[in-house]
Amino acid sequence: MSLREVIARNLSDIQLRMANAARRVGREPSAVRLVAVTKYAQLEWVRELVNLGQKDLGESRPQQLAERSREFGPNVRWHLIGHLQRNKVEIILPRATLIHSVDSWRLLDALQKEAVKLQARARALIEINVSGEASKDGFQIDELRKNSRKLLEYSHIEIAGLMTMAPQSDDPDDARPVFRALHDFRNELTTLTDGGLNIPHLSMGMSGDFEVAIEEGSTLVRIGSSLFAGCEEAEIVRP
Ligand SMILES: *Cc1c(COP(=O)(O)O)cnc(C)c1O
Repeated sequence: MSLREVIARNLSDIQLRMANAARRVGREPSAVRLVAVTKYAQLEWVRELVNLGQKDLGESRPQQLAERSREFGPNVRWHLIGHLQRNKVEIILPRATLIHSVDSWRLLDALQKEAVKLQARARALIEINVSGEASKDGFQIDELRKNSRKLLEYSHIEIAGLMTMAPQSDDPDDARPVFRALHDFRNELTTLTDGGLNIPHLSMGMSGDFEVAIEEGSTLVRIGSSLFAGCEEAEIVRP
């Protein structure tokens, strides 16, 4: 199979599985968007994917997002999904359609400051460390619960939702309580802020657990490895 065929097959397979997961719980398939994670993908593979019509791409490293956004121009919406250092806010803010990984008050402050300077509005998701693992970035639920109204003070940041990563596991169902907790906390946060926060998005689900995430209300799934499975081999047989 050619590289294009491999990626086309992976993409349609994932889209079908996404739609089926949504239908299983009575959701519209169009309510869930695929963010194709390209952090380990070669440029050539990303080109094929974009040619196939995929518009939302995710990178975890700010530098690589910046480089690739220059390469692809306005056909692509870039999502930053990895940790953002405050000194990289300047390069990311003009380029990212959505920053999924806002994990501290200090980063929120830096985004606000830069957005004011650019007379722009940053779009962000608040990353939550639901499982409380020490190795993970993100706010603790309790921290946000106590200070929820602080989120209303960022005039130049559109807080569009929440993001989380489930602990590593071979069984996708292990992730379900984590995804459910994020969904519940989103609803709680809306109440705590008296509806002052409009936070429709839940960014949750990766290659190993995206169907469970969709069943639990995900609106953005971040999928990398299964989208590009077989690409290495495909290139070898290319003419
Ligand atoms: C790499 C990454 C993904 C994609 O993971 P896959 O298992 O390759 O689908 C999703 N989210 C984040 C934050 C990542 O770093």
